[in-house]
Amino acid sequence: MSWLPTLAKASYFVAATLFLLGLQRMASPRTARSGIQWAGAGMLIATVATFALPGLHNLGLIVLALVLGTVLAWVSGKRVPITDMPQMVALYNGMGGGSAAAIGAVELLRFSAEGRAPSLAAVVLATLGALIGAVSLSGSVVAWAKLDGRMDKRYVFPGQQLFNGAVFALALALGGMVVHALGVPAIVAFFLAALALGVLMTLPIGGADMPVVISLYNALTGLAVAFEGYVLGNEALIIAGTMVGAAGTLLTQLMARAMNRPLRNVLFGSFGGGGQAQEIQGAQKPIEAGDVAAMMAYAERVVVVPGYGMAVAQAQHKIWELAQKLLERGVKVKFAIHPVAGRMPGHMNVLLAEAGVPYDLIADMDDINPEFANTDVALVIGANDVVNPVAKTDPSSPIYGMPILDVVNAKNVVVIKRGKGTGFAGIENALFYADNTRMLYGDGAEMAAALVAELKALDGGGH
Ligand code: NDP
Repeated sequence: MSWLPTLAKASYFVAATLFLLGLQRMASPRTARSGIQWAGAGMLIATVATFALPGLHNLGLIVLALVLGTVLAWVSGKRVPITDMPQMVALYNGMGGGSAAAIGAVELLRFSAEGRAPSLAAVVLATLGALIGAVSLSGSVVAWAKLDGRMDKRYVFPGQQLFNGAVFALALALGGMVVHALGVPAIVAFFLAALALGVLMTLPIGGADMPVVISLYNALTGLAVAFEGYVLGNEALIIAGTMVGAAGTLLTQLMARAMNRPLRNVLFGSFGGGGQAQEIQGAQKPIEAGDVAAMMAYAERVVVVPGYGMAVAQAQHKIWELAQKLLERGVKVKFAIHPVAGRMPGHMNVLLAEAGVPYDLIADMDDINPEFANTDVALVIGANDVVNPVAKTDPSSPIYGMPILDVVNAKNVVVIKRGKGTGFAGIENALFYADNTRMLYGDGAEMAAALVAELKALDGGGH
């Protein structure tokens, strides 16, 4: 059946086209769901087509791995709470990098056993792909631990950058040895250095830099897969890897630009100063739901600022109901989205789209910031770091320099949160102590429901 390999290669191009179209559909929340389905269909075709390639060994092991992977992914995908999604994405991304590194390891060990590599390009790309894939694997695992709250957000020690630089140089030197002479000891030492580098690189990164670093690992995984695809002569891997690499690089650039941070600073510097943060004066002033509802009902402009706490509370539906009530009363309502609000890029856009908020009511940070001064009520729900004015005022703060939503400029600010919990960066928020801020303590969904009920009562419609 000599036509089988040709069929496999043709299927790879069908799969690649589906990846491309899927990616294009993911550009808008309206079509994103179908984009995922198209790309998934492409992946299914690419996986099945691989069985038509000649010279496939270990079929039993391959099928076992497929069954195990499918069951684990299906069960964990169904079970994962929406708030743990970012951790899962970090883990899956790490597994992609790990798979590329594993291909690199198998190929390098095979070259080593045969005493030579088929070409210089093959051994160089196998080594580069293995380096990048291993860094992405161990780095993503550390990112997962940080996002999951299992590890301190930032871990720094004196001379860290020099030490990391030395480990990087060691990994490169060992990689050079592998390319030059192969040999199992060099390959093992090279992998250990690469894995250590991923861990060390990610340890000091925290706070507002995490989103950038997660998208960087995503880009690196794509690159590693593309390199290993070249080594295996597999078009599907080359195309899929290049696409993930390119999309990940663009996302990394966008996130870094949104945070006003050159990538070099994300990796080799940290936000703000390391000194003692300035003390915040004043007290938090609580308010009742009835007063907030009245304040908003008679306002001209209200801006809703969602953050990670809205995702935890799953309050997006109630918040949209609240906004609709205000719109019915003629209040101008907008939603303000910070590029790193929540725990993954686009987190708030996804939640608001799910609740049915029209896109023209949603504004980006740069567009909405000048409008806060004319805003009667800014309703902050579960956002903390992304509205913290110390990012502009306190050079010793770990988030100093991070662009924020200028909520503090609004005439009145109401913050819904459960208590005095800090955000991802773990620092106090000067906004909560400002003269124009009132705190509505409670779970996001419960407080949003209470506000809806109070507004209905104001309308005379009972509860
Ligand atoms: P934060 O993590 O700064 O703050 C969330 C706040 O929500 C907390 O202060 C908490 O206070 C409150 N909260 C938690 N649960 C509830 C609930 N059920 N109801 C009401 N409030 C609740 O969120 P932001 O969105 O402002 O900032 C995101 C942070 O995460 C940034 O530092 C960003 O750099 C980082 N990050 C972002 C990523 C991304 O890609 N978007 C990825 C990784 C990190 P309390 O406990 O008192 O209720």
